[in-house]
Amino acid sequence: MKTSSVVKWLGHSTVMIQFPGISIITDPILSKWIGQPGFGAFRYGKTPRLTKAEISNTDVILISHAHLDHMDISTIKRFDNTRTIIMTARGTSDVVAGLEFDTRELAWGKSVEFKNTTIKALRVNHLNWRYPTEIGTERTCNAYLISHDGYNIFFGGDMALPLRFRVPDIPVHLAILPIGSSLYNNNAHISAEQAIVVADTLHSKYILPMHWGTYSTTIEGREPIKQLFENINDPSRIVIKRIGQSWILKKK
Ligand SMILES: [Zn+2]
Ligand SMILES: [Zn+2]
Repeated sequence: MKTSSVVKWLGHSTVMIQFPGISIITDPILSKWIGQPGFGAFRYGKTPRLTKAEISNTDVILISHAHLDHMDISTIKRFDNTRTIIMTARGTSDVVAGLEFDTRELAWGKSVEFKNTTIKALRVNHLNWRYPTEIGTERTCNAYLISHDGYNIFFGGDMALPLRFRVPDIPVHLAILPIGSSLYNNNAHISAEQAIVVADTLHSKYILPMHWGTYSTTIEGREPIKQLFENINDPSRIVIKRIGQSWILKKK
């Protein structure tokens, strides 16, 4: 039984969050290719192996929104639908309906208690479709505040400024924030510089930068992480710098 709380970045927005007694994976995607042949993106970042134990110990698959690079059927399928539950944004559970997981939608501002952990959905500014042809659907996009035994982790999913949720009045110990894709779509994505502003707004000392260096959807290569290091006041705030790296959560 693990006694420390650990986060591990598996590339893009996939983060394994392990608290004693509960394991959560965010937006799991390890596929080599996203989308249809001829239309999509390829993985150029490292693909860490998900161990059998990591798969079978996963309690919650936590999904921010329905985009193909966040809700990946072939990766989700690898988990055990008799044990693992899916939590996702309102209007998105139909995407995974065929996989027969216990799937719960979380509307903005709502929280659930599960295995001594509170997961609260927060509204973010982003694009609410799965395919561009779906514009006008009821799909929504979430960020999450995950709280366990005095630890609070913010997981941003994909987001653009301004913030659409009330800043939590509890201390955030780690902000998991997207830093890529802003160069070609800054209405839907925050930049590395803006991620620092978000972390500061949340009063989070530590940042786990994600959504960079993994898929060809983010065409900037290492540019976002370079920008993050160039703009941050204290580089020790950036806790994970490469795919596959882990970090033990700290309260200060
Ligand atoms: Zn997205
Ligand atoms: Zn994305």
